[in-house]
Amino acid sequence: MAKVRSFEAGSAKVYILDDGVFVTDAGNLFGGSKKAKIKGAMRPVLIEAGDHLVLLDAGFGPELPEILVGRYELRRDEDMMDHLKEAGYGAGDVTHVILSHLDADHVGWALEPPSLPNATVYVQRAALEEAREMPEGDGRREAVPAVEKGVEEGWCELLEGNGEVVPGIRVEVRSGHSEGHQVVWIGSGGDAALYTADLAPARIWLDPDLIAGVDTDPEAARKNRIEVLTEAEEKNAPVILYHEPKDPVVRVRREGDKFEAEPV
Ligand SMILES: [Zn+2]
Repeated sequence: MAKVRSFEAGSAKVYILDDGVFVTDAGNLFGGSKKAKIKGAMRPVLIEAGDHLVLLDAGFGPELPEILVGRYELRRDEDMMDHLKEAGYGAGDVTHVILSHLDADHVGWALEPPSLPNATVYVQRAALEEAREMPEGDGRREAVPAVEKGVEEGWCELLEGNGEVVPGIRVEVRSGHSEGHQVVWIGSGGDAALYTADLAPARIWLDPDLIAGVDTDPEAARKNRIEVLTEAEEKNAPVILYHEPKDPVVRVRREGDKFEAEPV
């Protein structure tokens, strides 16, 4: 078993989990008809914060969702649940799940079926509203029935903007990749770490001019990306890159029009 890596952010302990790697045509991520293959990891983040055990995003879940079969390939020997166990926890120990947005590669273990029986799942209301408007067969829209069921049954809570979910863990709405997309600050001041989710999911996004075909609002994404990464640099905060296959934790430094990454 690979070792789960961890680091401290103030009084919180942060584990980088792993839900495997997806492979897809570049065109699925950047638009156009590029046939080159592109690979992305999924790195849900587990945080011990006081009595709380908080998960940030939740991989693809037990299997690749039906709607992605044929377009995406999922490779893994171990999944997020194996890595949770390796960090010393079981599925029942997770108390909070924060979903950055509702794409299928972020919500899997949290929603369908909800595999974390004692967790409350936090979603921005704006993310749910956008997902309802997506076309049939879109990954975000597929998540809607599960979120609505969760709200009805009480295990899913809709957030309205920025705020602390538990002491020391603060969500901030940074739209662009999707409406109501939220990043997460862990700790504060010089002890802070940042989870950027799909606002800047891998090193190539540290060039803010790279327009991802998957951003709903590329201009907003670009502006938010620059603001959030600038703040991370000012705080010297480790930045956790959800889709980065190698060295998912970096410090960033502005270099001309883009940010350079230094593995932590
Ligand atoms: Zn993603």
